[in-house]
Amino acid sequence: MTFLFTPSTVSIPVVGTDERFPVRRVYCVGRNYVDHVREMKEGDERDDPFFFQKPADAVVGDGARIPYPPRTGDFQFEGELVVAIAAEGTDVPVARAQELILGYAAGIDLTRRDRQRDCRERQISWEAGKSFDASAPCGPITKGADLGAAELRLSVNGQVRQRTRIDLMIWNVAEIISQLSADYRLMPGDLVYTGTPAGVGAIGPGDVVRVDIDGLKPLSVTITESGSHETD
Ligand code: MN
Repeated sequence: MTFLFTPSTVSIPVVGTDERFPVRRVYCVGRNYVDHVREMKEGDERDDPFFFQKPADAVVGDGARIPYPPRTGDFQFEGELVVAIAAEGTDVPVARAQELILGYAAGIDLTRRDRQRDCRERQISWEAGKSFDASAPCGPITKGADLGAAELRLSVNGQVRQRTRIDLMIWNVAEIISQLSADYRLMPGDLVYTGTPAGVGAIGPGDVVRVDIDGLKPLSVTITESGSHETD
């Protein structure tokens, strides 16, 4: 038996080891910080957060050069904490959610905001706004980090644009895993982007977007002119 072509598996380095984390699925939480719900002027801040997915091969690592994506004039950053899952789980109680977690990383949920808004107005799925190539930058994974009330900062060209304590999430990490595992069987290799705080904004070619989360390795990517993105 041979494959018709080389199967592609995106992987992310694990800090302090020579191991890499092979990505199976990418789940994202929408509307998980009240200040971001307010700035988007959508929905109701009393509504529960919800989930959407990006393709696994939308993940790119630290240092990636990301071409400005097609068919948008409003390409935006969303700095987010990413959870790396390393055990199977279905209907996981909140109290046991920690058992599924390998570690954490800094991530960006890149968004074609104009396409997302168009999807919402037409009442169709968000995919065109969220699930495009290279839309899920993810930094190195730090195993077993205890983040507590760590601060997340996203900067563009050195200027801080988003800043939050991660314990201000509407659903905390354990609650996210519990909720997500009620809808899907979580498996090793799953990444979960946990939502973004206020301060999202547009970026363009030449911009360097960096996410720092206390206790984790930073993630930095550069936006380039339109074109096909580099693979390694
Ligand atoms: Mn997001």
